[in-house]
Amino acid sequence: MTTIALISGANKGIGFATAQLLAGRGMTVLLGARDADRGQRAAQALREAGGQARFVLLDVTDEKTVRQAAEWIDAEYGRLDVLVNNAGIARGDGTGRPSETTAGPLREVFETNVFGVVVVTNAMLPLLRRAPGARIVNVSSEVGSITSMTDPGSPLYPMASVPYPASKAALNMITAMYAKELKGTPVKVNAANPGYCATDLNGHRGFRTPEQGARVVAQLATLPAGGPDGVLWGHLWTASGPDGDGVLPW
Ligand code: NAP
Repeated sequence: MTTIALISGANKGIGFATAQLLAGRGMTVLLGARDADRGQRAAQALREAGGQARFVLLDVTDEKTVRQAAEWIDAEYGRLDVLVNNAGIARGDGTGRPSETTAGPLREVFETNVFGVVVVTNAMLPLLRRAPGARIVNVSSEVGSITSMTDPGSPLYPMASVPYPASKAALNMITAMYAKELKGTPVKVNAANPGYCATDLNGHRGFRTPEQGARVVAQLATLPAGGPDGVLWGHLWTASGPDGDGVLPW
C-alpha cells in the first residue's frame, strides 16, 4: 500500500525539499500550493525525477480550498498517511521590536502559521484517522521556544520580534494539544525544528540547506510506532555551532 503524504506550501523551500525526500522513499506526495502554476511546476519536477507527485490547490488561509483538497484526497485515496503543515510566512514592522508591532503583520502571520494549521489539520483528520499509523508534522522553529528565546546564553536571545516567534510558540502549543487529544490512537503529532535554512523566507541568510531542514521533517513523518509524540524535535543550535538533532525545550 503506497503511503500518501500531503505537504502544504510544497512548491519551494523546505516544503519542496521534504516532498523530494518523501517521494524518494516511495510515497505518493500531494504537493499543496496556493498558486496553481507554481504547484504544477513543482509536481512536474518531482515526476521528472521519478517520484509519484500530484499538485493539489491549497491556500491554508482559504477554507474553501482546504475543504476541496480534503474532498479530493478522500475521493482519490480514501485516507491520508502523512500531513506536513509546512506553509509559513514571516512579517514584521520597523525594527521588529515588540513596541513597534502593529496588528496587520501579526494578523497576517497568525492567519497562515497558526489558524491555517488548525483549519488544515481538522479538515484532514478524518482521513488521517483512516490510515494505519498517521503522522502529523507541524513545521515550527526554535524561535517558538520560549525557553530558548529567553535564555541569555542562546544565540536566539538577541531576537525580539513578535509576529513570527509568537506564531511558532502558538504552533508548539497546538502541536502539544493535538498530541494530547490523539494519545492512544495510532496518530502521532510532532513539531519540527528544521534549523536556520537558506530560503526565500529569510532572504537566503540561513546557514543550513532546505534539504538539511527537510531531513528533520521527513524523520518525524516516518516515525515508527514507538517513536516520540507531542515534542518539538530537530536541529539543536548551540553558541558553538551546529549540534545535531534532538528534543528542544518548549
Ligand atoms: P519559503 O521558501 O518561503 O516557503 C514557504 C512556502 O509556504 C511557499 O511554498 C509558500 O508559497 C507557502 N505559503 C505561504 N503562505 C501560504 C498559504 N497561505 N497557503 C499555502 N501555502 C503558503 O520558506 P521556508 O523557509 O521553506 O518555510 C517553510 C516552513 O519552514 C515555514 O513554516 C517556516 O516558518 C518554517 N521554518 C523555516 C526556517 C528557515 O530557516 N527557513 C526555520 C524554521 C522554520 P508561495 O510560493 O505561493 O509563496
